[in-house]
Amino acid sequence: MASPPSPHAEVVVDLGAIRHNVARLRELVSEGVADAPRVMVVVKADAYGHGMLPVARAARAAGADWLGVATGAEALALRESGDTGPLLCWLAAPGADFTPLIDADVDVAAYSVAQLDEILRDARSLGRRARVQLKFDTGLSRGGAPRAEWPALVAAARAAEESGTIRVTGLWSHLACSDEPDHPANKAQLTAFDDALALAATAGLDPEVRHLANSAGALLLPETRFDLVRTGIAVYGLSPAPDVRTADQLGLEPAMTVRGSVVLTKELAAGDGVSYGHTFVADGPMRVALVPMGYGDGIPRAASSTAEVAIGGVRGRVLGRVCMDQLVVEAPTAAAGDRVVLFGPGADGEPSATDWARWCDTINYEIVTRMGGRQTRVWVGDEAT
Ligand SMILES: *Cc1c(COP(=O)(O)O)cnc(C)c1O
Repeated sequence: MASPPSPHAEVVVDLGAIRHNVARLRELVSEGVADAPRVMVVVKADAYGHGMLPVARAARAAGADWLGVATGAEALALRESGDTGPLLCWLAAPGADFTPLIDADVDVAAYSVAQLDEILRDARSLGRRARVQLKFDTGLSRGGAPRAEWPALVAAARAAEESGTIRVTGLWSHLACSDEPDHPANKAQLTAFDDALALAATAGLDPEVRHLANSAGALLLPETRFDLVRTGIAVYGLSPAPDVRTADQLGLEPAMTVRGSVVLTKELAAGDGVSYGHTFVADGPMRVALVPMGYGDGIPRAASSTAEVAIGGVRGRVLGRVCMDQLVVEAPTAAAGDRVVLFGPGADGEPSATDWARWCDTINYEIVTRMGGRQTRVWVGDEAT
């Protein structure tokens, strides 16, 4: 956990913010209901760039009932780190070996009868009952069984349950437009999910959890919460729908700060071009600063000449093209060695990851998930330290 002396570029992850956000989500989804839905913290893709294992530990400490990941490798890494709680893994390709996941008590997802057959084969070879969650496609047209295959998947799963090969622990689906609460797809998906649940109940399935909502569903569409909400981006302190409700309005604290040290400053004169292609040309004397991060560190090249950073609380724009390792910013008051903050919670006048997403024509999810490849990553706010 110790940081090296004077890191040039670092990603600082505040585990106190993670714990706060998990607690805040638990509070928000339990408002006004007797039987509060459980909360799954989604830690796929290295916890959206924040570091899977430290985030998972902080999330469990703050009361996360479930963890969720995409790949089997992610699930096994959590188990190897000592995590023993409820854990769902939802993505596998044909030919996948489910044996280590079943053996590690990981809930696996079945999207089709063919995939269920692979899970059954591995459960039998292991002599251990697999925990399986059936996924229904309510309208995202991504993973899950389409309506036409659902009755066959449910029937096969129920038969395998009766023979003791599996336990069907969950029935679930995923929303397409929950960041637009008024989008008609939300109601259509809810209706389709209710129909799928009714069919499964008629077939005799009685799962532990039925779940549909991601962060936006959990926060903006209470009727999608069912028994469990699968929250990712909100746990990291970012709004899934910044145009509808900001992180601040939701009471969430951004957990990631990306910062570094100014390598060099210099004075430009009118007519000096900056970075490859001279897409920015100074129209008068100005001071610029060299920042030691570029697209090799996950800084989008789309930030060229649009994004802003803060140095000593003073905002400056990225000038010209973002390079692989470096970028140049406008910096009227900076000196070499000053701390430059690209984005963070805003405490030092820096922009947010959501601001960067707007500047780069993407979503805050992509901005944070790209980080942490080459920068030094530091976790602060751990209860243990
Ligand atoms: C990534 C993912 C989530 C979390 O989504 P957020 O919008 O980050 O809350 C939930 N469910 C599934 C199936 C996912 O792939």
